[in-house]
Amino acid sequence: MATPAVTYRFKRPSDGCVFDDAQWNMLAHIFETFVPTLTPEETAELKKDYYQNVKVNPVDEKLIDAYAQESLMDVPEFLEDVDTTFQNHVPADKIAEIKTVLNILDTRLGSLAFTGSTIPLYEKTRQEREQIFLSWSLARMVALRKLFKAFGSIAKMIWARASNNFHAAAGFPGYPFTREGEEALKRTQEGASIAEANPEYTFEDLNSIEAAADGVIQISTDILIIGSGCGGGVVAGHLTRALPHHKLMVVEKGFWYPNHKQPLNERDGVKKLYEEAGTLQVNDGSMVVFAGSTWGGGSTINWGVSWQLPARTRKEWSEKFGLKFAESLEFQDCMDHVSQIGQVKPWLEAEHNISNAAILKGSHLMGEGYLSVPQNIEGDPTAHNKICGAFCSISCKGAGTDSPSRGGKMSVTRTYLAEARDAGAKFLQGFDVSKLVFDKKGNVTGAEGLWRADPSEPAGTGKKVFITAKKVVCSGGTLNTPVILLKSGLRNWWIGRNLHLHPVVFCPAQWKEETRPWEGSIISVANTEHTNLDNDGHGVVVEGMLMLPGLGNVCLPWNGALEYKKLMLRYKHLTNHVIIARDRDAGRIILDPKTGKGRVEYVVSPFDRSHLLETLISTMKLNRAAGAHAIFVPVVGVPSYTRLEDSEADQKQFDEIIATLRRTGLTAENTPYGSAHQMGTCRMGPTYRTGVCNEKGKVWEKQGLYIADASLMPASSGVNPMITTQGLAEWVARGLVADILKEEGTDAKSKL
Ligand SMILES: Cc1cc2nc3c(=O)[nH]c(=O)nc-3n(C[C@H](O)[C@H](O)[C@H](O)COP(=O)(O)OP(=O)(O)OC[C@H]3O[C@@H](n4cnc5c(N)ncnc54)[C@H](O)[C@@H]3O)c2cc1C
Repeated sequence: MATPAVTYRFKRPSDGCVFDDAQWNMLAHIFETFVPTLTPEETAELKKDYYQNVKVNPVDEKLIDAYAQESLMDVPEFLEDVDTTFQNHVPADKIAEIKTVLNILDTRLGSLAFTGSTIPLYEKTRQEREQIFLSWSLARMVALRKLFKAFGSIAKMIWARASNNFHAAAGFPGYPFTREGEEALKRTQEGASIAEANPEYTFEDLNSIEAAADGVIQISTDILIIGSGCGGGVVAGHLTRALPHHKLMVVEKGFWYPNHKQPLNERDGVKKLYEEAGTLQVNDGSMVVFAGSTWGGGSTINWGVSWQLPARTRKEWSEKFGLKFAESLEFQDCMDHVSQIGQVKPWLEAEHNISNAAILKGSHLMGEGYLSVPQNIEGDPTAHNKICGAFCSISCKGAGTDSPSRGGKMSVTRTYLAEARDAGAKFLQGFDVSKLVFDKKGNVTGAEGLWRADPSEPAGTGKKVFITAKKVVCSGGTLNTPVILLKSGLRNWWIGRNLHLHPVVFCPAQWKEETRPWEGSIISVANTEHTNLDNDGHGVVVEGMLMLPGLGNVCLPWNGALEYKKLMLRYKHLTNHVIIARDRDAGRIILDPKTGKGRVEYVVSPFDRSHLLETLISTMKLNRAAGAHAIFVPVVGVPSYTRLEDSEADQKQFDEIIATLRRTGLTAENTPYGSAHQMGTCRMGPTYRTGVCNEKGKVWEKQGLYIADASLMPASSGVNPMITTQGLAEWVARGLVADILKEEGTDAKSKL
């Protein structure tokens, strides 16, 4: 007799789904537990909590009902995004691990071991699953705590980005959109390509070039720059100015999304503008790593903080790493120059949003040091607040080309790359360089890779292209430059090593007043009290946090579905602060030979963790001093703080929470970590044994090959690294110009 076909409650979202029917059904039940449909009793409790906490402009009850009724499995965009994330961005060995866990959970013995009962998770009630997950979060077995963190963070972040019901109920007004944006959209809907609808940049179209007999399209240039971000952009601008008689091409694996269509919504933004669609994690899954991958690289999506490398760190680079230039007047001039081009100015007069005002007030009240944060904003910074505010991370809509008073962020697409464009440089987007090519003597002769005409073509596909060049500048960023070098056969011991990630933990808080945290400049004040905790320049800075629905709230603790839905509904009363460590200890980028992609090996060391813990505690104190109503400690097992009227009881409660936090500490499994700044994987050094390239960014092992991006740094910058990276790129570009002119027998000084 044939076995009856099993029917699953949750069907696979697509034919390409990496999981089989049974695995997906199990996974879906796990996800659903984090954001499920609430019961009528829970819905009533949710509403009560909402109207108690959100007194300013509460939304209509119907919106709360829809939100309470929603399970994340009802949200088609959630299903699509989870499916494509697993298909395209999770390495095969990690998928295999997840499948093994799902298979084990589907056996009686496995279920018994993981859940304490032989009944599989999908036959248990949601409430039973919830209790199991809460027990996982505190389990002795590290693997269970890891599972809780991994499944929970995927479910929470992807759902919060995708759920219109959440956005509406939480009072999130959506994404600002300009009239020019609407017009450009209309033109594209009428059939125009992105480039036609937006004339700022035009890119090479290789479709018209016939491939050679070996199927490879060949093009040529004099100088090739790989990567259009902070490093590559600056080099392109400088070289076209100094060497107008040379052909220059900038290639970028990402695509240009024109400024006046910005910002994208968060869901599209991460997919289109970020490395691995914003899903990249370190190997053990303990930290999410964000990096820009679009025209303009990180400069297009970063938050505009424009510190120069501090004198103390420059001294360290000079004395400890033998990079004497770091303390030179000429390097100072490089940082001043890029700051001037980026119109960097202090944020003094403009209004702070509530998150930044809390840092200012709390720092004052605690007697701690703080600094106003310089930003690369065009014209008047207050204009920035009005037109763009806190949406830089999904690109800046103020970055249009028409008016100088608009207050747009001065990403390299508006400065150096525009200069290169005007001087005749060629640009190729959608070109993913796989390796560099050298002649027998070790001179670089060009780069090969795959070209996609359009972002809708899957990454890793496209036409084979070889670009010949006499000089190559690799500016693929800290995550990618070492991968390109390794794939090209370079062997220097430092390639990929010395990876610094500026590990970040978060401090979300709730305020009685409406904060509308998606408004206002993301970072306008920083608490700098803890920047030198070891008397050797390692410590922590506290800054504001981007508060888009997914990213801004992902670190809110999950203590059961109802509690989580309650917290999320307080979104417009929340703030969040990032606590950024200048990491002393490093990780590594390694090449995954199967995929040809880089893998990030990094664990926050106990030394760096201790700095983060102390500063998290002082940031909680800072928020409490500034008047926060509640603080949601994003560490599993540590209770949240809600202010009590009786000040003695309040102090006692707060002290107990701090004591618990000290006991639990910040482990890889109990704390959500993030990284937005990557540095150091092709460090400069005075000899081949101490660095991948010399102090002018020239790669020791080969000729004609230079590096100009954040990977050059010998240690963490400590401050947000855009200006340091651009300053280094300016420095490398000046050296490269001198080299070329020397080779040509021309006077270098007159050309710089
Ligand atoms: C969300 C976020 C916010 C940030 N905010 C700030 C801030 O406020 N202030 C600050 O100082 N810093 C900030 N940063 C960091 C800053 O943007 C980076 O340090 C900086 O962009 C690094 O410059 P880079 O040239 O090394 O790399 P990137 O700017 O990342 O550029 C590298 C480019 O190379 C391309 N590329 C990579 N590999 C290849 C390949 N094989 N072929 C072709 N192209 C390739 C990538 O797609 C990318 O566009 C932020 C970063 C993030 C992610």
